[in-house]
Amino acid sequence: MSRILFTSLHGGDLKVANAREALRISLSLPVLHFMKQSHSEIVSVVDDSGGEFECDALITSAKGVGLAALAADCMPITFSAAGWVGVAHVGRVGFAKGIAGKTVTKMRELGAADIRATIGPSICGKCYEVAPDMYQEIGELFPATRTSDALHSLDLQSGVTYELETMGVSVRNLNVCTLENPHYFSFRGGDVGARQVGLISL
Ligand SMILES: [Zn+2]
Repeated sequence: MSRILFTSLHGGDLKVANAREALRISLSLPVLHFMKQSHSEIVSVVDDSGGEFECDALITSAKGVGLAALAADCMPITFSAAGWVGVAHVGRVGFAKGIAGKTVTKMRELGAADIRATIGPSICGKCYEVAPDMYQEIGELFPATRTSDALHSLDLQSGVTYELETMGVSVRNLNVCTLENPHYFSFRGGDVGARQVGLISL
């Protein structure tokens, strides 16, 4: 059994080591790993050792090791399977690089089966307006992200759902839009220093 949590926390506080420690203690986790996120396609396999990992996805089979992804409009996505958990930070750039699918591929290489993914609070397809040329470019590469030419907003939640379901992953989308829901932080909504945390552990 894995434990999944999506909650809102102030990014400024989370940068402080003792605030992260307080979060770890509040969840009774022996270890809680964060990432130094850079919209990369890097997936790291971790155990109970190490510090802040330079990647955008973490995987572990170690019990009591929490994996955290920070996001504020980007998608925090958790992955669970018997004996394995993972987490990924997936924004437009990471999505286009395939970070979500690469997390699944890596978990499967390690022996994970019947992977389930949960898409946490993130900006929805109605709200994520981008420049028309970017909309066309991404939309051609990933048709599931298309909404309408008039809106030219990208539906990354649908895009990643399509990607993962095509790979045979069971996907649950919490369908919470960070821009529309005042209980969550949104970078586009002006919350520059605050983040959601998506967290999973065995
Ligand atoms: Zn929305």
